[in-house]
Amino acid sequence: MSDCIFCKIAAGEIPTDKLYEDDEIMAFWDLDPQAPKHFLVIPKSHLRDSSAVSKGDEALIGSIVRTGARLAKENGLDDYRFVVNNGASAGQTVFHFHLHVLGGRVMDWPPG
Ligand code: AMP
Ligand code: ZN
Repeated sequence: MSDCIFCKIAAGEIPTDKLYEDDEIMAFWDLDPQAPKHFLVIPKSHLRDSSAVSKGDEALIGSIVRTGARLAKENGLDDYRFVVNNGASAGQTVFHFHLHVLGGRVMDWPPG
């Protein structure tokens, strides 16, 4: 999608502090971290949110989760939080599916 910031990041048109990339997914540090360690894992192809995930995307979503867990461990996080915001009132501001991985501090529950 031409006006999607994460599609532009996936295409290399906007630079990021990249952690990982393969043919299908990418991980990079969040620009406005909400924890000492906060990165995002995205599919390179545009997918609006969790409700847009189809049966054919199951391996892709599994890869995002596995990569988030691996990168968390590689970056010294034993405990961490995965967050996916879906819809504006849930806090989604970028409408391209992304897994937040946050850690390095004690997390509150319930989240705000
Ligand atoms: P959400 O509010 O769940 O849609 O999360 C969007 C996240 O993307 C926020 O945490 C932003 O700080 C982050 N973000 C937006 N633009 C960039 C960028 N260019 N590089 C890294 N992170 C970004
Ligand atoms: Zn996109």
